[in-house]
Amino acid sequence: MLVIGAGPAGSACAYWLAEAGWDVIVVEKKHFPREKTCGDGLTPRAVRQLGDMGLGSVLAGAHRFEGLRACAFGRALELRWPAHPSFPEHGYTITRHDLDQAVAENAQKAGAKLLQGTEALEPLEPTPAAAGASRAGAPPGMPVGAARSLASCTGVLVRSVDGGGTREIRARYVVVADGANSRLGRSLGTMRDQSYPMGMALRGYFRSEHHDDRFIESHLDIRDASGDVVPGYGWVFPLGDGRVNVGVGVLSSSKRWRGTNTTRLMDAFVDWAPKYWGLSPDTSCGPPTGGRLPMGLAVGPRSGANVVVVGDAAGAVNPFNGEGIAYGYETGRLAAACLGQALAGEGPAALAGYEARLQHAYGLYYKTARLFVRLINQPKVLRACVSTGMRSEHAMGWVLRIMANLVRPDEIGPAEHAYRVVAALAGITPEA
Ligand SMILES: Cc1cc2nc3c(=O)[nH]c(=O)nc-3n(C[C@H](O)[C@H](O)[C@H](O)COP(=O)(O)OP(=O)(O)OC[C@H]3O[C@@H](n4cnc5c(N)ncnc54)[C@H](O)[C@@H]3O)c2cc1C
Repeated sequence: MLVIGAGPAGSACAYWLAEAGWDVIVVEKKHFPREKTCGDGLTPRAVRQLGDMGLGSVLAGAHRFEGLRACAFGRALELRWPAHPSFPEHGYTITRHDLDQAVAENAQKAGAKLLQGTEALEPLEPTPAAAGASRAGAPPGMPVGAARSLASCTGVLVRSVDGGGTREIRARYVVVADGANSRLGRSLGTMRDQSYPMGMALRGYFRSEHHDDRFIESHLDIRDASGDVVPGYGWVFPLGDGRVNVGVGVLSSSKRWRGTNTTRLMDAFVDWAPKYWGLSPDTSCGPPTGGRLPMGLAVGPRSGANVVVVGDAAGAVNPFNGEGIAYGYETGRLAAACLGQALAGEGPAALAGYEARLQHAYGLYYKTARLFVRLINQPKVLRACVSTGMRSEHAMGWVLRIMANLVRPDEIGPAEHAYRVVAALAGITPEA
């Protein structure tokens, strides 16, 4: 088994495979510890996955928070994480510099072989999937004729980034976990459905006396140069180590917001954020960095005869809140379960089950999220939703529950009903 990339998705997949006793090699082009542009926020979903991987002790040294302070139009609501049978009632912040190293080392301890400073260049002997008469398994909106399955390959050509030349690594199965840019995924046939939501985000660190706040903070009314509230939010996430992680994220998929200048948005947010954070050029720890967030399972196909795609490479980020770490861990784990079945004797057919597992876990939820994104792309609707919601702590408690994907199983039926009602009210045709 060969895993490309040791971010959350690749390391989780490698951990679960190695734990089950399978031989796993992970190639990672960087050396740990390494920086990764992120808000560094872990919701209860991510905390649950880390606990399941035996990483509770890593979180003991991280900054724990109890919920979200939602701010907009001059109001602030402190919303605690909801009770849920499957998830804890707290989150953590921890830099990706520290977190990703710990998760990758945990996979190593479970038996995976981690090759750092090793970049995957291209698949070996890629065999295209049968030409796509059918689009089954590909997200809606993909060009007709697009393959329904990924190309297969016999391994990957890698190079040492430290100057050691290239070599081939052969494997029966390959996991693509190389992040939002996913060069390997694209060379095996993945495509992003342009009609799905896409986020752009920018973050930087600031020193702050308020670094140990017990709530992370989101501002839902950030504005562009013309004064319109943008579909996105500004955040201040306390890290508990003298710093806060500050950023802005915007849904850039609709034409209206595609050209949004995130640097300008970030500067304006830093200027305007509550003074108790003490954000200023003097407390900045360095220039902000940014990245893209492919959302709602926007990238496909996600499996082939011997390849599966996980995490950002599959576009797995939650469109409601831009969270991707938990979905990296979860999709990595779902893929590991299918690969385990394949290795245990079912062969390549078991990989087709990966798509079914994804749809079971996220299908309805991400469909609802895509509708939500279409709604809030309209400035008037966005403004009305935020200002109405901010008048009711109860309503915003529900919003947090939905956005963080913490709706209990017994509440899912009503959520589906609500989806149809909201779609009808908005005059939007729900997706099938
Ligand atoms: C500004 C910003 C803020 C964010 N804030 C949050 C947040 O607060 N909480 C949250 O949950 N999510 C957040 N996200 C999203 C989150 O960072 C991603 O969803 C998550 O990192 C996805 O994990 P991954 O393993 O799929 O990809 P990545 O984390 O990108 O990991 C991919 C790994 O593959 C390696 N790699 C790439 N190409 C190759 C190659 N060819 N060969 C070998 N190795 C390779 C990379 O070096 C990297 O280590 C944020 C994103 C951005 C841009």
